[in-house]
Amino acid sequence: MPVSATETGRSDAVEQAVAALGGLAERDVAIGPMTTYRVGGTADVFVRVRSVADLHLVARARRASGMPVLVVGRGSNLLVADGGFRGIAVSLLDIATDVVIDESTSVVEAGSAVLLPVLARRLATVGLTGFEWAVGVPGSIGGAVRMNAGGHGSDMSESLLDARIVDLDDGRDTVVASADLGLRFRGSALRADQVVVSARLQLAPGDPAVAKAALSEIVAWRRAMQPGGQNAGSVFVNPVPGEVSAGQLVDEVGLRGFRHGTASVSDKHANFIQADEGGSADDVRELMRQVAARVRAETGYDLRSEIRLVGFES
Ligand SMILES: Cc1cc2nc3c(=O)[nH]c(=O)nc-3n(C[C@H](O)[C@H](O)[C@H](O)COP(=O)(O)OP(=O)(O)OC[C@H]3O[C@@H](n4cnc5c(N)ncnc54)[C@H](O)[C@@H]3O)c2cc1C
Repeated sequence: MPVSATETGRSDAVEQAVAALGGLAERDVAIGPMTTYRVGGTADVFVRVRSVADLHLVARARRASGMPVLVVGRGSNLLVADGGFRGIAVSLLDIATDVVIDESTSVVEAGSAVLLPVLARRLATVGLTGFEWAVGVPGSIGGAVRMNAGGHGSDMSESLLDARIVDLDDGRDTVVASADLGLRFRGSALRADQVVVSARLQLAPGDPAVAKAALSEIVAWRRAMQPGGQNAGSVFVNPVPGEVSAGQLVDEVGLRGFRHGTASVSDKHANFIQADEGGSADDVRELMRQVAARVRAETGYDLRSEIRLVGFES
């Protein structure tokens, strides 16, 4: 079969990226299984960075190849297309795992790979409050900064002082104040090629027993209200935060439990879409499209994806 110019261009780009990355590059790595959806395809190039300095190699590979970059955190807000990601996927999970707690100032510095529930429990144990909401959010600090993750009336912007960011475009390694990150409801102004290496949080001293009770209450609420299984939490951003929820609209148009192929709207929470075991990311995407179209037609509200869609055409 003849090889198309696009295919030749793609394999040239991959070769350029791999050459710039030296021994760091892995080819055709399945990143779908690294997400909580556990569906979806491969990345052309995958890099498990061993130090912050390695990010400069990633920046060089990006420039040499012109390929896009995707930072993969804990994958709890990502849906990777079955056709995969034609770019360089980067993981910091091996390096950015430190937590430094200064009890005299209640300031906590956490590496981007640190899991939110683990940090929430640790802070409650030492009597630092303000981060209890994060106990039910299965993401990393890096993903939480990028998404301004939140819940139970709070979010990252409430405690984030600043974040250390490596910019893969110009190679700058800077500490950016929270106010300059463009944090908004479930989003930020960070670009795909700006990598969060760590973040500093300002918390408040409190009673460990009260903080732990709050954690238990949140965990119980999550168990009662949200499904387990393969999903990435809420699929759509609430159109009017605090007033009109996406789940309420999906319910109103009667789509709770609605199925397309291997994907279904959860019976337990109408803003969750579940993937079947061994299912297809493209089915999840198509179901999202059908749900959004029905909600638009019947209620006039536009539903915007909260989940980061990777490798899909539009
Ligand atoms: C059961 C369940 C419940 C959830 N509940 C909530 C909730 O209550 N509130 C909420 O806000 N979210 C919720 N989520 C979504 C998700 O957990 C959060 O958005 C989380 O912050 C994503 O972090 P992550 O490490 O998994 O990021 P990923 O899913 O890996 O990535 C998400 C985005 O962040 C980027 N990113 C990841 N790491 C970095 C980094 N180091 N530097 C720069 N960019 C990075 C990625 O490129 C991508 O664009 C839920 C998910 C699940 C599965």
